[in-house]
Amino acid sequence: MTVNDARAEAAAQKMRVVNVKHGRDWHVRRGHPWLFSGAIQSASARIEAGELVRLHDAAGEPIGIGYYNPQTDIAVRMLTLDAGAEIDPGFIERRLAAAIALRQAAVDLSQTDVYRLVNGEGDFLPGFIVDRFAAVIVVQSHTAGADRLLPLLLSSIEKRLAPEGIVVRKDVRVRQREGLAMEDPELACGRLELPVTVIENGLRFLVDPLSGQKTGFFTDQRDKRLALAGYASRLGRPARLLNCFSYSGSFAVYAAARNADLRTVNVDESAPALAQARRNFELNGLDPALHDFVEADAFDWLRKQRDKNAVFDLVVVDPPAFAKSNREKEKALKGYARLNELALALVQTGGLLVTCSCSGAVRLDEFESCLREAAGSAGRSVQVLETYQHGADHPVSVFTPELNYLKAMFCRVDA
Ligand code: SAH
Repeated sequence: MTVNDARAEAAAQKMRVVNVKHGRDWHVRRGHPWLFSGAIQSASARIEAGELVRLHDAAGEPIGIGYYNPQTDIAVRMLTLDAGAEIDPGFIERRLAAAIALRQAAVDLSQTDVYRLVNGEGDFLPGFIVDRFAAVIVVQSHTAGADRLLPLLLSSIEKRLAPEGIVVRKDVRVRQREGLAMEDPELACGRLELPVTVIENGLRFLVDPLSGQKTGFFTDQRDKRLALAGYASRLGRPARLLNCFSYSGSFAVYAAARNADLRTVNVDESAPALAQARRNFELNGLDPALHDFVEADAFDWLRKQRDKNAVFDLVVVDPPAFAKSNREKEKALKGYARLNELALALVQTGGLLVTCSCSGAVRLDEFESCLREAAGSAGRSVQVLETYQHGADHPVSVFTPELNYLKAMFCRVDA
């Protein structure tokens, strides 16, 4: 659909209707952006996946406008509770402008030019993730509705931000739940010189928005990286950091930049990520020869180090999501307990463990119970010093606690 098609569709206001079952609309009215398929009484015939719809309650009163996909559980994602709104270029541009204003207030943009610009439902733009990498913008489209609104978002981004290039990524697995194909990342507008150099809290990192993992850089860990750097700087003596699931080395770069006597070991199964990590050390004036970059399965490697009685002053474990859905949750909880037991065994007495989980299906209290179990099995005393979720550029509505996927705990570990 082109911008003009979208304009015509909205202007005609010939939106089809989805009727909600009696008593199943209250959470949407209150501000939750999702209507599950089980809450639908009836829907107009032949609605296409991703089409705009007007939601009506059991009495026929309009509730608001969203987009509908009959092929998935999250059948409707709401765009507005103003049932008379036009979902036109101006609507999307206003949403984007609000998201930009939020980042201007929440992020120190004098030190950082890499951040999440749009956090999907949290910025009232369901199905979209937008990250800013200096002059380049990366847009992920997760849903059929987002695919249809994409031209409007792209033109709003061009108008508001005039980026050098916009990369569109449809290589996200969640698309399969919507009945959508995964597609190769592409440069949708402008130009792109690889790699892109970004600045985060004054440090420099290389990002490849086309082939890097997710959008290319994990903007959600910025505040945790900064916190770790503080601990590293206060050690004030030669020390060792283990950065497990290191990706492009960001945690270790932060820590080493603040403590010249720190030696780091970066473990990841991805060779390209480790190559990028080396370059990121160099880019920040840190000699990669003083640090280790180990391509390995983290579980195997940790087990071997434990058997050798290796210890580190600081240990970071930031694995990929173990549970993408509730079905995988039990297995994920076991995985976190096992991983943290291994990690705890490697922390020097009085040292720090930074343990993270980005599984949306695992709540903070459940993650804490994994850590409790791990501490028990490892026979270590663990004091929680700080607990984090996302940074301020990842807003989440109070009505959608299930979208709070990230958890990070900073713990002192004793004998
Ligand atoms: N801490 C990083 C982000 C980590 S993302 C940052 O702040 O940038 C998770 C990383 O885990 C990815 O780089 C992925 O390649 C790696 N990974 C996934 N499974 C792994 C495994 N079994 N062993 C080692 N690394 C793994």
